[in-house]
Amino acid sequence: MSPARPSEGARTTAEGEARLVPAVNALPFASAAILGAGLMGRLLALALARAGCRVELFDAGGPQADGAAARVAAAMLAPLAESAVAPPSVVRMGHYALTRWPELLGELAQPVFFQREGTLVLWHRQDAAEAARLARVLACTVEQVPELPAMRTLDAAGIATLEPALGRRFVQGLLLPEEGQLDNRELLSALLATLESLPNVRLHWHAPRSLDDFRPREGERVIDCRGLGAQPQWSALRGVRGEVIRVHAPEVALTRPTRLVHPRYPLYIAPKPNHVFVIGATEIESEDMSPASVRSTLELLSAAYAVHSGFAEARIIEIATQCRPTLPDNLPAFRQPRARVMQINGLYRHGFMIAPAMLDVALELLRDNGSALAERFALATGLESIAP
Ligand SMILES: Cc1cc2nc3c(=O)[nH]c(=O)nc-3n(C[C@H](O)[C@H](O)[C@H](O)COP(=O)(O)OP(=O)(O)OC[C@H]3O[C@@H](n4cnc5c(N)ncnc54)[C@H](O)[C@@H]3O)c2cc1C
Repeated sequence: MSPARPSEGARTTAEGEARLVPAVNALPFASAAILGAGLMGRLLALALARAGCRVELFDAGGPQADGAAARVAAAMLAPLAESAVAPPSVVRMGHYALTRWPELLGELAQPVFFQREGTLVLWHRQDAAEAARLARVLACTVEQVPELPAMRTLDAAGIATLEPALGRRFVQGLLLPEEGQLDNRELLSALLATLESLPNVRLHWHAPRSLDDFRPREGERVIDCRGLGAQPQWSALRGVRGEVIRVHAPEVALTRPTRLVHPRYPLYIAPKPNHVFVIGATEIESEDMSPASVRSTLELLSAAYAVHSGFAEARIIEIATQCRPTLPDNLPAFRQPRARVMQINGLYRHGFMIAPAMLDVALELLRDNGSALAERFALATGLESIAP
């Protein structure tokens, strides 16, 4: 076993808020098997390997993460925008993650696109009532989570100043400052390249595993990050279908994730590098992974065209479908079904937004068998059910 690194201890964030970045020293185990090399599995494998642990990472698919929700996601990091569908605990995790992501990305072997230019929320005149309802929910969130920057109300001139390409098409909008996004595929590739460079990591592709395949002994851990693939052992998990379209649109010059309020087809457009835009996403209570429907495709593309006519000449690169791994309360959770086995799941539509918080909680739990961060985020840790 390689020696563990010294403690990193308490650090101060860019916002001056003192918090404990979990020190992954003195892990009470020397080796770990991680099931699932999607978002959480790759992040955790890297953190444990960097702490000196021997890591075996298994995935049912290949290195491009083709079977992972993480590959399809838009990877928006928008805690206030998401508070329309998420409780304050998840919003707090999202806010925490916005300052943790640059630290995590800075440790990777390849650059990853990351920005914090805020989220722009727009609506057409006929949807003003729906927008007013949303604005009330967001205002309530800012009261409950005061560390969030307050949203700004925009008029047509304000929108045009932020996004000149939109001109005066919209007369009202909201800016949710400092919200972010990253490039999910660059992140997955950079994590892969970094993991491949470490001598204490072994990667096993096209190697589906079940928890029953492992009997961890003293000094070993098994960590289940299989997303929806964990369903056989975590029956409460369900998939929530999402359809997403990637286009190449050289005529569109949006600089930040833009959401369109609509009573039936809420839409986001997330601009990635090189004029690639991720347009999404449907949310359907179904585990159907079949290709996108004509209805969803028409709705997403026509809503995007209504935001910016430059999408008319965009080229469709991909229309993808995936399911978000979701628990009955739509909240993330840890479980420890038997000694030395931990499960992390239920990241739903917020995986990227909360992954650094989930990672830090996991590291605390693995090191200390308890987590102050988990309490702060009101997260179920599964400790109560752990076998002796
Ligand atoms: C359409 C869509 C849009 C999204 N947009 C956003 C967004 O904008 N912002 C955001 O924060 N989140 C978003 N998400 C959510 C995010 O993608 C997920 O929450 C996140 O990917 C979950 O991470 P995970 O590691 O738990 O699971 P996954 O990323 O799904 O990874 C699970 C891995 O386990 C592997 N696996 C499965 N079974 C087995 C097995 N038996 N053995 C070994 N390996 C196995 C799979 O191959 C996969 O690689 C979106 C999701 C979807 C579907």
